[in-house]
Amino acid sequence: MDQSIRYSIIIPVYNEEAVVHETYRRLTEVMKGIGEPYELLFVNDGSRDRTAELVETFAESDGCVKLLDLSRNFGHQIAITAGMDYARGDAIVIIDADLQDPPELIPQMIEKWEEGYEVVYAKRAKRKGETLFKKWTASMFYRTLNALTEVDIPLDTGDFRLMDRKVVDAMRSIREKNRFVRGLVSWVGFRQTAIEFVREERFAGETKYPLKKMLRFSMDGITSFSYKPLKLATYLGFAISFASFAYLVISLGQKLFTTSTVAGWASLIACVLLLNGVILIILGILGEYVGRIYDETKNRPLYILRNSERANPEEVNLSV
Ligand code: UDP
Ligand code: MG
Repeated sequence: MDQSIRYSIIIPVYNEEAVVHETYRRLTEVMKGIGEPYELLFVNDGSRDRTAELVETFAESDGCVKLLDLSRNFGHQIAITAGMDYARGDAIVIIDADLQDPPELIPQMIEKWEEGYEVVYAKRAKRKGETLFKKWTASMFYRTLNALTEVDIPLDTGDFRLMDRKVVDAMRSIREKNRFVRGLVSWVGFRQTAIEFVREERFAGETKYPLKKMLRFSMDGITSFSYKPLKLATYLGFAISFASFAYLVISLGQKLFTTSTVAGWASLIACVLLLNGVILIILGILGEYVGRIYDETKNRPLYILRNSERANPEEVNLSV
């Protein structure tokens, strides 16, 4: 029976007890309407509330519901990855649990998929009910990322998308640790298209992406697709050398041809502090990359399942 699953919906959930029932209801309504075999694959990312139990009660009465239970909170991007490893459909949809991504868009995505597109991503034409700060930082982030990277990562697009089996298989061959899934999907290529939507408010509960996680997420995005920040040292080095040489010439000129000399202490301390700041920033950038290299070399698995016999390990053909 599993072989015939046409659509897999991956829903990462982290402390979503307030929304998970409504998400299940709306997804089921949409998927029943399509009338082809599907699975709702909830990936519990180490929730500390009753999310997993709730999903289990849905699974008891509905064979389409599956729970993939991670052993702790591994983060949104890893949860999605785990979902892709275990999803069995011909087309796979990733959707947030909080109903900010409307399930009602799935039939439209499927239409595009049937037209022959292998990735259909949902672009946020508008975002409702999010703070100005979040909208502004998100917008800045997508634009900076685009300026820094060679891979064309679509602007204002989250992980809400449909992917063909081929794309998911390609994604599964990528086992890098600090993952930026939406960038990787662009990286693997295939025929991609967008549909636009208005991003709704979170149905209930609070965002699971506090500032700290957002920062980490954006660093992962930038470092995994660009090494331009590393070139900053070279550019700054040249600029500062050039400026200090000019300053040297001016100071010498003053000393030789005028009676005034360059004042010492203030200019000295300003230069020392500035340069130390610059060096520390560059060391920090370097550290971001070195840390990620370290993560890769440790070769730990991306995630651990709480109960691995529940899912179908033989289905998973990991290359690590
Ligand atoms: N999420 C997760 N693990 C985390 C953080 C978030 O699985 O560590 C899930 C969360 O349950 C939701 C999705 O990722 O389904 C997006 O999170 P959220 O809606 O809080 O992010 P926002 O929309 O505020 O950016
Ligand atoms: Mg959300």
